[in-house]
Amino acid sequence: MDDRAGVQGTLRTRWAGSAVRAGSGFLVAVAALGAVVAYVVRRQPQRALGVLGVRGPVLFGARSPARQVAITIDDGPTPGLTTALLGVLRAHRARATFFLLGSGVEAHPDLARAVVTGGHEIGNHGWSDRPAGLLSRAALAEDLSRTATTIETATGIRARFMRPGSGWLRPGQLRDVLAGGAEVALGSIAVLDLEVRDVERELAFVLRRVRPGSVIVLHEGRPERAGVVPLLDRLLGELGQQGYECVTLSVLVDGAAPPAVTQNRPPPPRTVPTT
Ligand SMILES: [Zn+2]
Repeated sequence: MDDRAGVQGTLRTRWAGSAVRAGSGFLVAVAALGAVVAYVVRRQPQRALGVLGVRGPVLFGARSPARQVAITIDDGPTPGLTTALLGVLRAHRARATFFLLGSGVEAHPDLARAVVTGGHEIGNHGWSDRPAGLLSRAALAEDLSRTATTIETATGIRARFMRPGSGWLRPGQLRDVLAGGAEVALGSIAVLDLEVRDVERELAFVLRRVRPGSVIVLHEGRPERAGVVPLLDRLLGELGQQGYECVTLSVLVDGAAPPAVTQNRPPPPRTVPTT
């Protein structure tokens, strides 16, 4: 009690006037709330997104019977970065799912095709990564449909999964997306420092949480996010040592039975036998 009285006394001295004291108390409360929200988002993104209104049939992670995880990479394609990521994936014989932006695919259709021919899956991340939850229902539908068409024109693939920009949808938007036949995929482990300034720290963050069925969220999309390349390399090395197989989202969700390219058949001529 004495200590608290002492602190209050100090505050009263430093912030003369009750209005200022109330104001600083409010700021402390906001900062504390912000810290709690940041903590929850970082530790338990699925719970935080649930609180934000993303409910219903949304994929956060899978109940995988096999020791499989899905690595997802948002905001591409990006000249330079996407090619580097594809090289790392190839070196580790890993598959991933790229949530591409329609504007990027329109500018770089060759990179979108390289994703598909590498055996990876493409998801729909909207046209320009605007926060999906802030768009009108009509605008979001238009945004996703334009992106889907652009991806299909470039690659011959109709994306199965969509991931909303900024990671959340309003309930009406979610109903629209599901009615349109797409599946909504968020994730269970998100690296929130998109620039990955400390590769080892982010690596440890992911490895502490990974389990069979995890959906890991990484980002490309800007040159300053190049740290994702060494992170992916380290992550694939560690996951491989722990016996994890990195598969596309479709394979993770559907189980290990179909070949990894079933959802990612490149446009003809086909080089992979179909089932
Ligand atoms: Zn994004």
